[in-house]
Amino acid sequence: MTRVVLATRNEGKVVELRRILEAAGLDIHLVGMDQFPDVPDVVETGSTFAENALLKARAVYEATGLVAVADDSGLVVEALNGMPGILSARWAGRHGDDQANLDLVLAQLSDLPDERRGAAFVCAAAAVGPDAEEIAAGTIVGSLIREPRGTNGFGYDPIFVPDGYDITTAEMSAEDKDAISHRGEAFRAIAPLLAGMVS
Ligand code: IMP
Repeated sequence: MTRVVLATRNEGKVVELRRILEAAGLDIHLVGMDQFPDVPDVVETGSTFAENALLKARAVYEATGLVAVADDSGLVVEALNGMPGILSARWAGRHGDDQANLDLVLAQLSDLPDERRGAAFVCAAAAVGPDAEEIAAGTIVGSLIREPRGTNGFGYDPIFVPDGYDITTAEMSAEDKDAISHRGEAFRAIAPLLAGMVS
């Protein structure tokens, strides 16, 4: 089975994307960057999700010589003119402080009526190999509630209710979220392109 590297040191993300790519019928062995401890982390200097995903996949392909995939994702809030966007992981000032990030967005939206609480999760997935670079995107549209609900997922999941649902993505099972999520959509789209790269 061909080894493909995912540009992350987050084992939870490796497990999630392994599950999505397997469900899409892709026969690869996906490994994370913990297998390559000497390769430095890539700084996300791009101005879009797509640029960041591509620069991470390129850097990991160049460092490992293996076909590489990467994603970049975030929460796009209408009333914040599209922010936190690519800054979602560090919105409250410190990378990865999910609770502080969520609390800040709730505080920023506290005076807004329901009809102005629209938001979307967006994901760009990139794959880079010796002969090709591919990119795919996914989006899930919804709105932000006022009080967090649910304990599954991560990040902004406890305040995000997808359109057509009355539960948050933190109240869904992992498989139900994959079926409608921005990451699910982006990686299902890139799966056949990735299959072409490793065959
Ligand atoms: P990254 O793509 O790992 O850089 O994640 C960016 C940030 O966007 C995360 O730290 C979360 O704050 C947010 N985010 C991205 N996808 C999701 C999701 O599916 N649920 C909740 N938050 C998310």
